[in-house]
Amino acid sequence: MVPFIDLTPQYRSIESEILSATKRVFEKGRFILGEEVSAFEDEFARYCGVRYGVGVNSGTDALYLALKVAGIGRGDGVITVANSFVASAFAISFTGAKPLFVDIDPGTYTMDPNALENLLKKKRVNRIKAILPVHLYGHPAEVDSIAEIARRYDLMIIEDACQAHGAVYKGKKVGSFGDMSCFSFYPTKNLGCYGDGGMVVTDNKKLYERLKLLRCYGEKKKYEHILQGGNSRLDEVQAAILRIKLKYLDRWNEQRREKALIYKKELVGSGVICPTEKEDCSHVYHLFVIRTKRRDGLQSFLKGKGIDTLIHYPIPIHLQKTYKALGYQRGDFPITERSCREVLSLPFFPEITDSEMEVVSKQIRSFFCGRKLRVRSPFSI
Ligand SMILES: *Cc1c(COP(=O)(O)O)cnc(C)c1O
Repeated sequence: MVPFIDLTPQYRSIESEILSATKRVFEKGRFILGEEVSAFEDEFARYCGVRYGVGVNSGTDALYLALKVAGIGRGDGVITVANSFVASAFAISFTGAKPLFVDIDPGTYTMDPNALENLLKKKRVNRIKAILPVHLYGHPAEVDSIAEIARRYDLMIIEDACQAHGAVYKGKKVGSFGDMSCFSFYPTKNLGCYGDGGMVVTDNKKLYERLKLLRCYGEKKKYEHILQGGNSRLDEVQAAILRIKLKYLDRWNEQRREKALIYKKELVGSGVICPTEKEDCSHVYHLFVIRTKRRDGLQSFLKGKGIDTLIHYPIPIHLQKTYKALGYQRGDFPITERSCREVLSLPFFPEITDSEMEVVSKQIRSFFCGRKLRVRSPFSI
């Protein structure tokens, strides 16, 4: 049996620190917007290389609130990719704006800058306000080209960095490129809490101040509401946990990179396409995603051997039922659609053991060998 992910070894490795940090919060008796949250906001913003952080209650809310403070709403368009978790697009829709999709680069699975440029040339761009690139699976999107296009068309960039805490592009961390950048601390993310959590980071003080209002009832002073904000706050217990875990993030990401290298070595010549890392980038392998035309067969074969895998994601966002009204069709984004048919995420987390990875790799090789032999045998000598 190889689980897709197991969060318990990591907890055990930091258990005493976590217990004393949470105990500190319980004993203080302050649970909302206290010292832990503001300290973690500072620490995580600094980690990303920007000035301000606003803790919120999920990655989805981080995206939604960032779009709101960017002034995006009904009648506007925001460009993103259909090859992502659906929340990237939902956050756009929640503001009343329309998500516009572009295809991806087949090597990194992230937004293809040429496709972005083509869309902008084609469309009436006056209502398009922002670009929302996703650093999918832990690999940075092609930030330089996207930023150059954004400048030319005067668009904001809001990064979806929910899968890429600590990933580096040309010496800078993701989260430091956009006007605002959004993170999720969902438990399985590279930096995850023990519940839900998220953050928007930015260098822009005005946006920062508006974000702080929007996450908490638009409250400037107690019971003085200068705009209609909701309730979307990171809580003290989660922030205390995240402060502990942030100290280990680089080490865990390094472990992920080492383990990814082991998979890649074991899978050479196996018949699957392994993830690649672009020059000048540091991939943090939120997921280890392979690609093969025989994806469904491989997944059920592995399941039969007790190996859990997942598909990120089986249905591209533009073909989700809920987006029928947008009018997209099968064939609109061929690279995205192919990856949805062919990608498979292998069991992967910083503490996965070498022998677990060996079992997975061996079974993958045997799936492809076994099949080749059976197909060939009638014709071979
Ligand atoms: C996880 C994730 C989100 C949403 O984060 P939640 O904290 O689950 O709301 C958004 N975008 C991407 C790419 C994600 O992986």
